[in-house]
Amino acid sequence: MDRKVVWHRNDLRLRDNKALSEAGQKAVPIYIFDPNWLENELVSDTRIEFVIECLQDLNRQYQAKNSRIALFKGNPVKVLSGLQDEGYEIYFNEDANHFRRQMEEKARQRFTGFTGDGIVRNKEGARKNWRANAENYIKSKPFRTPEDIEDNPLEAGIKLDEIREKYDIEPEKKKFGPGGSKEAGKRLQDFLDNIEKYPSSISSPIKAEKNTSHLSPYIRYGCVSRRQVFRHAKWRAKNSEKPDKFEMFIDRIYWHLNISQKVEDNPKLHKESVNPVFRDLNKEDRSEEKINAWKKGETGYPLVDASMRALVETGWINFRMRAMCATFFSYILGQWWKEGADFFYKHLIDSDIAINYYQWQMHSGIVGVHKHRIYNPTKQIKDNDPEGKFIKKYVPELRALSPEQIVKPWEMSDKEQRKTGVDIGKNYPEPIVNRKNKAQKARKFFKAKKGEAYAAFKDDEVWKRASLSPKHDREQIIENASNQKSLTEY
Ligand SMILES: Cc1cc2nc3c(=O)[nH]c(=O)nc-3n(C[C@H](O)[C@H](O)[C@H](O)COP(=O)(O)OP(=O)(O)OC[C@H]3O[C@@H](n4cnc5c(N)ncnc54)[C@H](O)[C@@H]3O)c2cc1C
Repeated sequence: MDRKVVWHRNDLRLRDNKALSEAGQKAVPIYIFDPNWLENELVSDTRIEFVIECLQDLNRQYQAKNSRIALFKGNPVKVLSGLQDEGYEIYFNEDANHFRRQMEEKARQRFTGFTGDGIVRNKEGARKNWRANAENYIKSKPFRTPEDIEDNPLEAGIKLDEIREKYDIEPEKKKFGPGGSKEAGKRLQDFLDNIEKYPSSISSPIKAEKNTSHLSPYIRYGCVSRRQVFRHAKWRAKNSEKPDKFEMFIDRIYWHLNISQKVEDNPKLHKESVNPVFRDLNKEDRSEEKINAWKKGETGYPLVDASMRALVETGWINFRMRAMCATFFSYILGQWWKEGADFFYKHLIDSDIAINYYQWQMHSGIVGVHKHRIYNPTKQIKDNDPEGKFIKKYVPELRALSPEQIVKPWEMSDKEQRKTGVDIGKNYPEPIVNRKNKAQKARKFFKAKKGEAYAAFKDDEVWKRASLSPKHDREQIIENASNQKSLTEY
């Protein structure tokens, strides 16, 4: 048989899809719902529904080429092995950005995996020629889409509505927007039409809700490839009178590639700190009270609370608020990074293992090479939500407060509390911890550990797992380790 099964996963598109391009008109497109994914407690119904919409869109695209997508449910390697036994060749795009690394390895051994996505597969560590490889990928022409595809002979094993019904899919969050390539293309166009607002909106939680691209879940599920986004933005920049306005956005597409490499290089990224010196840091000091307050948005710090409530309600917050909430959890509340990262992973619409868990490790200081940026949530209000619009949107009990009062509600006098109806400690909590003291303590701790953390990179395995971009010089880091000795006295 000359037909080739094209197994879609996080590549829910027809354009710029290497496996599909290689299969050409002989493609037999399929998607397999893995019960392990559907039942994973970190996968929200909102995200499952988003993927279902992506599949509906994908099917429409295939129908336009006289084909369709066949849906299955089961252990993907078993389903694919069955199809292989029937005589199909199995094509897929290699991708380690999921929790089932062993399955990925099996698939790579048994079936025909394609690379060519800017990610280097190399057991020795990928960073040597990484930048050149990434540039080469992102600047090259997209893979050809087949003009026409022969009829799909496979009977679908399951229907989308059966998935919805069997797994009781009831999206918990406000609708983000329909999944799929069509919507991704529309968003990219609309966003680039208004890109001049982007640079000044990125850090403001309320402006970012409108003015950043919101392409993250579409890129995550491959409704559009990073290369398509990059090339289109570059082309628009070239034809624009203000090409510099596109730079920040284009940089982020590189960041995406850079971070995706990390999960290829480090299968334990989502569960172990990159740096062994910080393994299980704070795990023993778990505080149910602090964790619950953070999750519910009841820490007494208005911007943290608004961000956490927005995350749970909508599945999306901007980069700065993600970073601030992560540093608050790890450095200020002194909690184990992994528990916070899992909570984000469950609630984000764009949950991406590489980005989420690496950003969490970075913003918890446990990679061991980055500067400790401990965001101050009161300063962040002054800088990024000066009128308190975002806070008031998600923390309605603070709506009566003036811009001055909302920065530190706990400093309001009794009279102010009576006047605004905000009784601190009753209808809005007192700050759960003293932020300043906790930040100082954390800084001291990490300063003391710096030498040890740097020295950990002498180990080849640790260096490989860190998968640091080429700007980090290993020899320099190791050399600096010995300069830090006296710091252990802190
Ligand atoms: C703790 C933490 C967790 C995060 N978890 C995720 C996650 O699970 N999934 C995710 O897609 N992003 C994550 N980010 C990165 C970033 O916050 C989001 O990509 C961005 O806010 C998505 O909104 P947007 O599409 O409007 O972004 P835009 O600003 O419009 O950026 C365009 C695209 O660039 C990519 N991008 C943007 N920032 C980054 C970054 N720092 N690293 C890598 N790629 C980036 C995304 O694909 C994004 O869609 C996280 C950041 C932090 C600090």
